[in-house]
Amino acid sequence: MAEKPVSETAQKFSSTFKGKGKTVEECEAMIRKSLGTPTVNFLREHMEKAGCYVGDNFFKAIKCDNLMGGGYSSRRGVLVCSNRMTFQNEVDQVIIHELIHAYDQCRAANLDWANCAHHACSEIRAAHLSGDCHYKRELLRGSMKIRGHEQECVRRRAMKSLANNPCCSEEAAKDAIEAVWDVCYNATKPFDRAP
Ligand SMILES: [Zn+2]
Repeated sequence: MAEKPVSETAQKFSSTFKGKGKTVEECEAMIRKSLGTPTVNFLREHMEKAGCYVGDNFFKAIKCDNLMGGGYSSRRGVLVCSNRMTFQNEVDQVIIHELIHAYDQCRAANLDWANCAHHACSEIRAAHLSGDCHYKRELLRGSMKIRGHEQECVRRRAMKSLANNPCCSEEAAKDAIEAVWDVCYNATKPFDRAP
């Protein structure tokens, strides 16, 4: 399993990845920049309001030997894979994506990552709310956001993330995404609507 990407963030970057990325030090500077952006501040404020203080040391740059772009665990916080990062907006996206997972864990005391439906819900929210699927919009510059494309992208990325959960078979992941889709795609908290 170790060579498999454990974050859907990785999937996107690995396909476009050409350079050797950033050093840990460079990535730390990019993380500091991210921490000054309105969306990241907004999420940290809401986590604090929900009783989960997130200090600057919650975010770490590490060199990853797999295809990860980043990850989150309650024990280690948010990790950004320096060697997978090229642009500032990639770092911003990873941080926002993983912060959505952290927010979900903070808000739902009984969130169980081994439960496919719980995990599916958080991945749908993270992919939708982090703008992971906005790159489609950039590719389609000049055209309006195509709703179907964005939703298809969110579904695909949620499936890829769930594929790394040993508790969810492909079929269980598919069923879980369908079962929670309407509720979780429209659950934009703490945002009023998807940014
Ligand atoms: Zn995720």
